[in-house]
Amino acid sequence: MSVKGKLITLEGIDGSGKSTITKRLTSNPDFSDFVFTREPTGSWIGEAVDRAIHSDTDNLAELLLFTADHAEHISKLILPSLENGKNVISDRYSGSRYAYQGMTLKDRFEDPMQWIQDIHSGWTRNPDLTILFDIDPAIAVQRCGDRGDKSKFEKISFLEGVRKNYLRLARENPGAFRIIDTNRSIDEIESEVVELISSLL
Ligand code: ADP
Repeated sequence: MSVKGKLITLEGIDGSGKSTITKRLTSNPDFSDFVFTREPTGSWIGEAVDRAIHSDTDNLAELLLFTADHAEHISKLILPSLENGKNVISDRYSGSRYAYQGMTLKDRFEDPMQWIQDIHSGWTRNPDLTILFDIDPAIAVQRCGDRGDKSKFEKISFLEGVRKNYLRLARENPGAFRIIDTNRSIDEIESEVVELISSLL
């Protein structure tokens, strides 16, 4: 019988600390067997997503590019890795689409977050665990202050809506979501993340 790997995703608004923790985990010897990945990916479709984010591309077109990148990611990396028994950690994944495009498309659909989940249904691979990095958007934006590449996704009121969407997702999927408070030291956050992942495996 083959043992399949587990899929863990890190979600949260920009500046919540996902990349910082991912970097810590990649140099933690307990995680040396894990596959680390991210969305948008580095594929040409992921590059197209980056172009969409940094231009005034139509929001629905942007969602569909993100979704195409997700499909490519799943078939080329996520499923083969899990089938090989590898555990995978993705810095952002489908939850980002539901929460962010749930905001950008709020005037286009009655319940955009549900609509976006519906178009993923039947082909996406749902995470075994999603760790939601929760934080006040004002603090997150302040942390990103020196990044110098403020995108349209970094405005506080927009991020407040994204955060609400994330919290709704967590409420609707209590079995798969764990919310962590990331307004703490990086060491404290890292040990909570390590503990959550260890208890899944
Ligand atoms: P994300 O990947 O979620 O957008 P980052 O990990 O890039 O967030 O963090 C954004 C900024 O905040 C970085 O400059 C990082 O050094 C800083 N940062 C991350 N976590 C913390 C923390 N717990 N406390 C203070 N600053 C932090």
